[in-house]
Formats: sequence, structure tokens, C-alpha cells
Amino acid sequence: MSNRDYNSKNGPGGASYINGPLQNPVTLHPSTQGYMATRPDGSNMTNLKTTLLPGPEKNNCMPYQPPSPLSPYQSPSSPPQGTLHPFAPITSAVNNHRMSQSPHSQISSTPPVSDSFSQHLQQPTTWQYDGHAHMVNKGSPVPSSGLSQTTTVYSFGTPTPPICNVLQSPGPPPTSASNVPKSAVGPYPPQPGEMSKPVGTVYHSLVPGYQSVPHVPKPLPMHPPTQPYSSPPQQYQQPSVGPAQLSPSLAGLSLQSQIPEALRVVNLLQERNILPPGPVSIPKPCLPKDLQKINCSPEVFRSTLTSIPQTQSLLNKAKLPLGLLLHPFKDLSLPVVTSSTIVRCRSCRTYINPFVSFLDQRRWKCNLCYRVNDVPEDFMYNPVSRSYGEPHKRPEVQNATIEFIAPSEYMLRPPQPAVYLFVLDVSHNAVETGYVDAVCQTLLENLNSLPGDSRTKIGFITFDSMIHFYNLQEGLSQPQMLIVSDIEEIFLPTPDSLLVNLNECKELVQDLLKSLPQMFTRTMETHSALGPALQAAFKLMSPLGGRVSVFQTQLPTVGVGALKPREDPNQRSSAKDVQHLSPATDFYKKLALDCSGQQVAVDLFLMSAHYCDLATLGCISRYSAGSIYFYPSYHSQHNPAHTEQFQKDFKRYLTRKIGFEAVMRIRCTKGLSIHTFHGNFFVRSTDLLSLPNVNPDAGFAVQMSIEENLLDTQMVSFQAALLYTSSKGERRIRVHTMCLPVVNSLSDIFAGADVQAITGLVASMAVDRSVTATLNDARDAMTNAAIDSLISYRNSVLAIQQPGLLAPACLSLFPLYILALLKQEAFWTGSSTRLDDRMFAMCKLKSQPLAYIMLMIHPSLYRVDNLTDEGALNISDRIIPQPRMLQLSVEKLNRDGAFLMDAGSDMYLYVGRNCSPTFLRQVLGVQDYLNVPVNMNQLPELDTAESTKIRAFIGWLREQRPFYPVLHIIRDESPLKARFMQSMIEDRTESALSYYEFLLHVQQQVSKEAK
Ligand SMILES: [Zn+2]
Repeated sequence: MSNRDYNSKNGPGGASYINGPLQNPVTLHPSTQGYMATRPDGSNMTNLKTTLLPGPEKNNCMPYQPPSPLSPYQSPSSPPQGTLHPFAPITSAVNNHRMSQSPHSQISSTPPVSDSFSQHLQQPTTWQYDGHAHMVNKGSPVPSSGLSQTTTVYSFGTPTPPICNVLQSPGPPPTSASNVPKSAVGPYPPQPGEMSKPVGTVYHSLVPGYQSVPHVPKPLPMHPPTQPYSSPPQQYQQPSVGPAQLSPSLAGLSLQSQIPEALRVVNLLQERNILPPGPVSIPKPCLPKDLQKINCSPEVFRSTLTSIPQTQSLLNKAKLPLGLLLHPFKDLSLPVVTSSTIVRCRSCRTYINPFVSFLDQRRWKCNLCYRVNDVPEDFMYNPVSRSYGEPHKRPEVQNATIEFIAPSEYMLRPPQPAVYLFVLDVSHNAVETGYVDAVCQTLLENLNSLPGDSRTKIGFITFDSMIHFYNLQEGLSQPQMLIVSDIEEIFLPTPDSLLVNLNECKELVQDLLKSLPQMFTRTMETHSALGPALQAAFKLMSPLGGRVSVFQTQLPTVGVGALKPREDPNQRSSAKDVQHLSPATDFYKKLALDCSGQQVAVDLFLMSAHYCDLATLGCISRYSAGSIYFYPSYHSQHNPAHTEQFQKDFKRYLTRKIGFEAVMRIRCTKGLSIHTFHGNFFVRSTDLLSLPNVNPDAGFAVQMSIEENLLDTQMVSFQAALLYTSSKGERRIRVHTMCLPVVNSLSDIFAGADVQAITGLVASMAVDRSVTATLNDARDAMTNAAIDSLISYRNSVLAIQQPGLLAPACLSLFPLYILALLKQEAFWTGSSTRLDDRMFAMCKLKSQPLAYIMLMIHPSLYRVDNLTDEGALNISDRIIPQPRMLQLSVEKLNRDGAFLMDAGSDMYLYVGRNCSPTFLRQVLGVQDYLNVPVNMNQLPELDTAESTKIRAFIGWLREQRPFYPVLHIIRDESPLKARFMQSMIEDRTESALSYYEFLLHVQQQVSKEAK
């Protein structure tokens, strides 16, 4: 690609204003662009639903029936076709779920008393007051399981020590289903008669700050919005307009919040520089200040709408999706409470939280179901202030994110030990890539950092066309390899010595890791029996539960689960719809459900230059709550960048925090209902997510609807409770609670729209849509999401109609983000994309936290050859430059400069041909442009001011995420330049519209529907 490409992409003549209004009018061609599909009938809110929600099969969440762990699935000779909906079935229609016993106590998302967290929970007969309650800090006897976690541990009462002796008994592990310990969760027997009507009696308030009553300020007169345009007046005379109305509460708050800015009218066709100079700000819910201060961090819990509509019909009118995005196990500093009493609502099992109200010292009212509960005697003592009679000052009521060390009633079996099994492909193809060496080396280096305690167990399986087990029993002089050649009926040769105690057998484990890379170097075996290897792993792990890490380098070819290539490379860039996004067989999904039932999660590391059918293999991780990693061109010699990335990723993977035998439940205030879940898990009962493993890099999303009008409610709350076993064998409960205001006008709903959260949710919904319907359907649905929201805004919120494409400031990035999604690898069409690459992008969109999804969708671009100290951050005496974020257009590039693109898992440093020799010398350490290596992945540590600045900036970006983004230094001749250019999403490509063209298309559709 030559420099001429800078201008050639966006039309003839190299006009200086490439994407702007000066361009010739563009004609859209429905057949080739894919944006012009006729919108479905009735372009109302259901439009979004009909286009983004899966069809009727969204309710086919099947209740989990634990199969016998020892009955392997026989490979169906002809895999059942068309029965699989890999994304859709993990949903459940909670909205159908009603408690019939008490119509007054309906909790939209959860049956009032049925709570699996509380198995055998009994009301203590006497409330013990422990006079020795005290607060201890990090380093206290109460163990903390976090890696990078600083914890304040509040300890009151006597913590229940984990019961672990049962699992350490020297006898053989149970081998039949009846002996397998049941999971620690299960339905809690309903307690009839416990539910009561919401009590509305007015009591004297204890502390006004904890009453769920917002301060409603007096309405203030409307004032015109601030002059919206920084650019000189252009084509249209811009009248001063504002929202049709602001509700009294919002108008009142407008002086002290960002509301007027959120609703500032932006004409997208005129205002080109809509990117903020720095990170896009997250809207703050319009709550009273004391609640705002205490609310859950948006890094953990985010809603697409920070103001919740009062009714479903209002939500329908807004045409914006309603949902939550969660990052529940994020590495955090959080308070940890050890208490003999975990205070929860007796009706809906909500954990006491900052948004409940105390009616008096002895009673609190649940903010989810409104039941009035007693304050237990234990709770009267406040360990922080060491005073009695101040329950509202307890840490549980002061922190929206908190972790409890759970007493024994939260477990059905003793907390399991950390168990790690590594399953490695050692076929000829695998050995060729050199990955075994990297795995063993990294594991050896981090063996002592694996999360766990004295009970931690480890094991290894390797496989090609046969399965190899390793006896690591204490006392052996060296590891013993046991080969099972019968892959039709997998059995464990020495069941007791394959998973061994890491501490007791560390030397044997180290011996094995040192010798494994050489053991198969001469192998000529090309076949892969992945299915049987996974069955063996399941058999080995099912008595205990734990984590299986599978490394696979090719399509499985023999035994159960064998697959055939489905991808036709000639069809990769075809305009026709993309095929084979759903699995070829249900073997992997079924095995994953078996694993889930036995608290086993399977993580998949796929390293292959050839088609591996990620759509099928990925099911093993998706339904067992595992993680998926993909290194498509991994080769230790040919692709050192990938090797480096893998080693950093794998180190993070091995050492990051892990939770075992976990479940998560998300509750919300009565009237709201959660109906679709996104992420890697299995929905065990209506709304209980089964997570055999949970890791700090996993994100989740849910969609919501409004089942009952929220007329008498000024605020609603959402609570995510994650019950897990820490690697130290503690049962813990992490609770996040978020509170949001309820509003009754469309302008208020729009003012609270969180454009990034909306984009993230739309991306997840579109992945589902691509699989259950077609990719083109999903693309149309995303485009319609942008069009519909702007129609609604224009028709219902804007007071004065005017020409142009108008958006409220808070949604001004929405069309850009939608265009970016259409050009994202998961959804783009017309360019040659390997099916596995596309599937991997889809997997990431569904299972990553929002912050990383946004970098995937819309990377950040900075000019870095002229970094200054202006606005720089000073962190621990390091000066971190803060260059301005640039639009993703070649217009912003310059042959004289150097540009850094941060795309989340990859970073690209593009060096222009005429980049200054000073930069080349002082940052890259080369004399001239031609000496910039084609494959360069690191900046040399040069002792120059320029080098220090740019390395500080890149280092700072890297520090903000737990995984390791690889830096690719590219110039015009680099093969990766095409990749870099593909991210210039504002520009036109052969098969996709420029941003300006896309806006024109959206405008056309919006004006058709304008009132
Ligand atoms: Zn409740």
C-alpha cells in the first residue's frame, strides 16, 4: 500500500476534506452495501427486538440433569444438525417466572425464597453478640485470596474455618456418580408464609441519608442550552433548541450535573470532531449526591440507561436497549467481612446494602421487594466505629461492593481445593509450532504462583491419536507415562496418582515439565483425538472439580468429537451470508454441561494456522464458564510476537485470581425482569448462572424488561451476588449493588443513555443474531438500532425540528460505534476473513468486560512523535504524556509523523515514511526509515527524552489492563499495515461506507420517519 492511499480511499482528487460534506453525494446500493435492507414492519420499539432478540427459541434453556459422569458420549455417526443454537439457548425467560403463592410478593427476577446461595440457611435461635469483634487490616490472620487485591478485613464473630479434611483423605477418589459430592448450591426449599406484602407504613427515619427517598429539588426555569457548536456556522442556521422538556427532578439537578450537556443537540453531519480528547466519560446516574458517592463503580456494574424508564411502553418509545454489563470478579480493593450473620432479606434473599432503608434501629426495608426485615442483634454492633446501635454504619450498608466470608450454611460440601489439569496436543502439527516448549517453560516459572494452598492438585494429559497419562505419585523416581490406545472407551489407568498434590510432588512435576518438550520431537503422528482426551479429563476431574486447560493446534480428526473442515476459503469474502457460525456437533456442548455439573471448567488455547472450527470447539468453554484464547499464526520461530503474547497471556492466566464452584445471581427491584444473559456460563435454573470457574477477566451482560410499572418507585436497585470458593478454600460471596433513578419522560431517559454500554449490549445481541439468524440480519439490526434511537429522539424529545441528523450529545457517538461494529472482524463482510478469526472476535464480544470490548470496536489513535508534557499525568514521579485521541481516518495520519493505535489486545505504532530522523534515532534506535525492521515488536530502551515519554505512555496504557497487548511497529511495507488501515473505520473501503456516507444513510431513514 503506498502513500497515495491516504487520499485515494475516500474519493477522487484527494480532497482535503475527505469524508465531509464537500464530497460528492453518495448513492447507496442496497444489494452491495447491506445497509439498505428493508426495515421490518412497524418501526417501533419492537423493531429492535425483532431484529436483535433471538426468536422463540430463546426460552429453550434446559434444566440441567446431571448425567452419570462416567458415561461418555458416543460420537453420533451423523451429528444432529440444526438442533443447536449455541448462543440462544443460554437464555431463560424469567419474565414467565411468577410466584403463584403470593401475588403481592412477586420478585421479577428471583423467586422470593428460592435461593441457592442459602442452602440450609437457618435462622439462628439466639443472636450471639461477639464482644471481641474487631477490624483488622491486610496481613491479618484472615487469608485473602486476591492477587493484586488489597483488602480490608472486618472480622466479627467467629469465622467458620473451611472444612477440608474430607477431601484430603488418602483413599481413592470416588468413582461413581453417587459418590460425587454434590455442588454447593441447590434450590432452597420455599418457606411458605414468609412472604408478605410490601409494607408502606411510615416510620420515623433513622438516618435520612439511608432512606430511599431522593432529594427532589424544586423545578427551576428552563434555560437554553449552551451554544452547541464550536465550529463556525455552516450550511444551516442553527436555532437555539433544547429538549422538549426536562422533568422537574432533572431540571432541578441540571445545575449540578451534566444533564444539559448530555442533551445538547448535535448535528452529526456538521460536527465532525465528536470524539472527546480523552477517554469517553461514563454518565453518572442522576441520584442525590450521597447515594451517587456510595454507588457501585461503573467498572463493575453498568446499565445501558442510567435512568430507568417507569414503564415498558416508555422504554419501547425510547428504542434503546435496556440491560446491564458486569465485570463482577474484577481485581479490586474491597472490604471483606467475616461475620457469623450475613443479613439478607427474608423474602427475596437480597443482601443488605447501602440502598435499603432503616425504618428504625430494629427494622430495615428491602430495596428490591420492599419487605420489612428485622435487624439481627449481631448487626447492632458496628465494628468500624466500635459502637452499638448504629446498624446503618456497618460496612455492609456503607459499601456497594463487599465480600463476605461465608459460613458453613453456604456450602453443601467442603470447599474444593484448587485443581489444575493441563491437556496438551502433542501431535506432529503441535510439536511443529513449538508451543509445548513455551507452555512448559512458562508453567515451570510460575509453578509456585499458581493460586492455591497446601491442598492444590495438578495433573497432565497429552494426546495425539492416543491418550497419554502421567503418574506423578510421590515416591516415584521419575514421572511415569501411561498410554491408553483405546480411545473408544476411555478409562483412567491409575486413577489415584494422576492428579497429585503439587507441594508433595513438585519435583516430579518439574521433571515432567522439563522433559515434555523433547518427548515428542520426532513424532510422526498427525491425528488428534481431542474428544477422547476431553472425556479423560472430565473423568479425572469430576470427583473434585477444578480447571482444565486444553491446548489444541488442529481440527480433531479421530474418536468422538472428530470434525471435518467446513470452511471454503474461496467463500471468505463472498457477499453471500457467512455459513457455519453454529457448531457442527453437540458433543462439545454436552460434555461442557457435564463438566459444569461437576464444577469443572475447560479453558481452550487454540493455536493453529489452519481451520480448527472454533464455532464447534468453543462450546466446551462457553458452557463450562471457561475462557477461549486464540493464536492463529502461532509459531515459535516464524512469529515471535505471538510467542511473546502467548507467554504473557499464559502467565497472567496461571497467576490470576480464580474462583471455583461459583454461581452468580443477579437480582433487581420488583417490576424489572432479566431475560437474556450473555457470557460464558450455563443457566442452571431460571436465573442462576453456573460458573465452575470464575476469573477476573470475564465480563457478562444481561437484557432487561419492565414487567410492572415502576410508578411508586423513585429508585431501583440491581444486585449481583457471586458465591465462589477461593483458591485458599474459603467460601466467599462478593456482592455488588447499583442504584438508579426511575424517570417518566423520554428526555430524561435519553439524558441518561450510556452510549458505550448500549454499544456493548448491542454487540452481544448481534452475535446471537448472527448465529440464530444470519450475519446480514445482525448487521441490519445494528444499523436499525442507531436509526430507531435517533428517530425516537427526533420525534419525542426535540422541541424544534430542523434539518440535519440530530442526536443528543450523549448519543452522538452511537452511529460511529455502530459503523465500527459493522466494520469489526466479527461482523464485517466483503473482506476475506477466516471463519475462526470471525468466531473468535464474536467470542470476545460476548465474554469480555466492556472496557476491552470498546477498544476492540473503536481503537484509540494518538500521534506520538511530538509528545509534550502538556496535560501529562504524574504517577509516582513518572511523567505520562496524554496525547489527544484522533479520529480513525487516514486524514489524521501524516507521512511526517508516528501514530499509536491501541486496539486492546494489540497496539500498532505506525511510522510514516517521512518521519523525522530524530524520532527514528531517539525512539526506534535506527538511522533512517529503511532500517526500521519489518517485524519489530519492542521499543529499545534508549536514554532519550523522546524514548522515555513514549515508553511511559505505552507502559501506562498496558498497566490499565490485565492482559498483555503486543506492540507491532509497522511501516508502509509491513504486512500488518493492512490490519492497521482496516481500523480506519471513518474511511470508505471497497465494501463499506465511510462514516459520512453512513450518516447520510441514517439521516435518510430518520427523515422518512420524521413526524
Ligand atoms: Zn427483599
